[in-house]
Amino acid sequence: MSDPNTRLMSRIEDKRDDLIALTQDLVRIPTLNPPGENYREICGYLAERLGEKGFEIQMVRAESTPGDSKRYPRWNVIARREGSGVGDCVHFNSHIDVVEVGQGWTVDPFGADLIDGKIYGRGTCDMKGGLAASIIAAEAFLEEFPSFQGSIEISGTADEETGGYGGVAYLAEQGHYAHVQHVIIPEPLQKDRICLGHRGVWWAEIETHGEIAHGSMPFLGDCAVRHMGAVVREMEDSLFPALAQKHTAMPVVPEGARQSTMNINSFHGGQAEPDPDFTGLPSACVPDRARMIIDRRYLIEESEDEVRGEITDLLEKVKSERENFSYDLREMWSVSPTMTEKDAPVVTSVQSAIQDVLGKTAEYVVSPGTYDQKHIDRIGRLKNCIAYGPGLLELAHKPDEYISVDDMVDSAKVMGLSLIDLLKPS
Ligand SMILES: [Zn+2]
Repeated sequence: MSDPNTRLMSRIEDKRDDLIALTQDLVRIPTLNPPGENYREICGYLAERLGEKGFEIQMVRAESTPGDSKRYPRWNVIARREGSGVGDCVHFNSHIDVVEVGQGWTVDPFGADLIDGKIYGRGTCDMKGGLAASIIAAEAFLEEFPSFQGSIEISGTADEETGGYGGVAYLAEQGHYAHVQHVIIPEPLQKDRICLGHRGVWWAEIETHGEIAHGSMPFLGDCAVRHMGAVVREMEDSLFPALAQKHTAMPVVPEGARQSTMNINSFHGGQAEPDPDFTGLPSACVPDRARMIIDRRYLIEESEDEVRGEITDLLEKVKSERENFSYDLREMWSVSPTMTEKDAPVVTSVQSAIQDVLGKTAEYVVSPGTYDQKHIDRIGRLKNCIAYGPGLLELAHKPDEYISVDDMVDSAKVMGLSLIDLLKPS
């Protein structure tokens, strides 16, 4: 009899067609978010499939979280299978939602066509392919090793694309991660890379004030847009160069994100954009209000206080130099950076599985943007968490998004081998 790893890998190989069909079924349930379509349907599908395989099923509606309504209920599913002995719980978490389709598709975005070894459609790569791979890995493991120590969980959760409040955050608040030791999130980070975490986020709105007056006599008013212009100038002169100097030891990909960054998300001043059907002219007014939303991404070497302090210092500097300058600063939301240690058990386990399956050393990466790991760390208080899954991050949210079947099979093998390592089957 061959060794357990080889047996499991060939069993996963045998499930290639099942993996394809499963991915296609998931993609054909359009779970667009916003608004959060068909969550109930996809959770029901997963519940039925995993229930038949002996998983205990829990359906959880995240009531009164953002977006939850009778029309668009925020459903989540958790499937759990106990082993024969006491041991760790390995939890695979995938989000079930997908982003809008957008323009530029050459295939049916919900057709899940299989063309030359790739399945096409919205959500194939981000991240129904990863979800399907984790299910196949778990099912193959359970068939091959019915007796093991610990438990396996697979969750399909809502709303990752809009912050995860009706999904992982809600489950974490309800204590669903209290008994979990290892979390793998099969986001499309590439089959040979382990994503240890993500940078932090801090969003704020800056508003400058002015005074409305007739546009022919602007000196009788006070232009809020010019005040905001002074803020932008200060950002250009001092803030952006300073951010570019702040480098991180986090292995963020792509490399351009290996420093502090800030995006000016939006900028509004003066009269609202007219209705496209309106063909008249704007009235002559001095704008008395300008608003800017900033999206600051920060590093594990920085603190949220520092990030906030940078902006308040900048605004205070402009205020000290500029007559009649007044502002409001409103913080909108924030997420701390998180990075799992390279010697954490889930990392070393997936690392050696990648070596066995792909014959290469895994690359450690950190995501420039956040994903549900933030809630598992901050609310669930679990550090032993990574993102690992098939697919190319660059394809996420794009037209003609696809997932390669070979990549799904390989990453299912990696997940399966990690289960052997973590759950010690006999
Ligand atoms: Zn995703």
